[in-house]
Amino acid sequence: MTDTMINSIFFEKLLEISRQMAQTRVLDPLLKYAMHEALQLFQGEHGYLVLVKPDGSLDFRVKIDMHGNELSQPEAEISTTILYPVIRERKSRLIHDALKEPTLTNASSVFRLQVRSVVCTPLIVQDEVPGALYIENRSTSHIFLESNLKPLEYFASQAAVAIQNAILNEELEARVAARTAELEMALQQLEHSWMQAVEANRIRTTLLGNVAHDMRAPISMGISALTAITDGMYGDLTLGQHQWITRTIHSLEHAFNLTSDVFDLAKAEEKQLTLQRQPVELNSFLHDVYDTCEKLPRSPNVQFILDVEMMLPELQVDKTRIKQVLLNLLSNAHKFTEEGMITLYAHHQKDDHSILIGVRDTGIGIPKDFMDKIFQRFQRGENTLAHAQRGTGLGLAISKELVELHGGRIEFSSEEGIGSDFRIYLPIT
Ligand code: ADP
Repeated sequence: MTDTMINSIFFEKLLEISRQMAQTRVLDPLLKYAMHEALQLFQGEHGYLVLVKPDGSLDFRVKIDMHGNELSQPEAEISTTILYPVIRERKSRLIHDALKEPTLTNASSVFRLQVRSVVCTPLIVQDEVPGALYIENRSTSHIFLESNLKPLEYFASQAAVAIQNAILNEELEARVAARTAELEMALQQLEHSWMQAVEANRIRTTLLGNVAHDMRAPISMGISALTAITDGMYGDLTLGQHQWITRTIHSLEHAFNLTSDVFDLAKAEEKQLTLQRQPVELNSFLHDVYDTCEKLPRSPNVQFILDVEMMLPELQVDKTRIKQVLLNLLSNAHKFTEEGMITLYAHHQKDDHSILIGVRDTGIGIPKDFMDKIFQRFQRGENTLAHAQRGTGLGLAISKELVELHGGRIEFSSEEGIGSDFRIYLPIT
């Protein structure tokens, strides 16, 4: 083989190793691979790959012989007399016979280990020197040639880039792992707080539900007793007494409605609100609702209209619950309308197979900034008429729960000073 042929085989091998190094992203295997290949290429007996630690000291990451076996001698024994200047001055060093090298007479390890041929080159990436490659041969002097230096430096520069990339990659992975651990911890804490909040909320809701439930019976007894008195069961009342007891009855009725609403909401939250579905003939049902609401107090300037399509299909719904929803919508309409019309209407929506039941009024309407809160619990608008009794702010929240429990939806549109239109859509099952 001619020199040129040997050279071309050598460079081909060098190229292949460089490619392999560039593809290895994990630091330890990369360092071992680079050191092992360097020993093979340059015929070294032992090789050391060192990295510079942040404090400037050396980290002996690979210590192997030409067969890839780990060397057992402690790091301190390896001559740093050669390594430090190579790294500091960024300059390779070739020693033909270390035992005879005048600059190494003080390097005790050289004599103890009987080191002969040495070649050492820095790993350079741009203006940084992350480490160095050190190759030695103890059995033979003059084994490394001047002509080996350039190829070794080329090899070292390729190794240095790959090593730097792997270090960055590892740092990045460590940062990602640390951040992930932090996030996981934060998530766990959040989950814990969330569970605590859910539990606290559950206890509060149960308590609220129980209190509401237990208050209903005595309030109801109070209303019955006072109604009996106003009905004259215990003798005649003076006008003042009658007015006073009637006002008390109204307050108790308000309290009763509030406890009923709170009780329903607590049940809805605990998913204990169940429906008693039955076939409901809609036309007569809506007439019945209309008749009930006819008796609601309203201004003489308000007309109450029923506009229901004939022959509506039968619905499988909880009659009491749907009536509760409609009474709530209608009582709101009555509360917030001083003149014009209140209409209870219903249509068969053939396109989405549902029944639309709506309550439209020409009342004061709902302010824009309150619209997104309207279905939230205990939310009452500022748009109250002077004489209207303040509600509980629970009616629409319960109505929404009940309609959705039926698989339907509730929506509304409203304009201040023009009126409101609340619509419920119930699926025909
Ligand atoms: P409540 O009527 O007991 O206060 P609701 O949940 O039924 O509770 O209604 C919440 C609020 O929505 C009311 O306080 C009122 O401000 C507004 N609202 C509901 N219906 C109407 C309506 N038809 N016209 C104007 N405002 C309405």
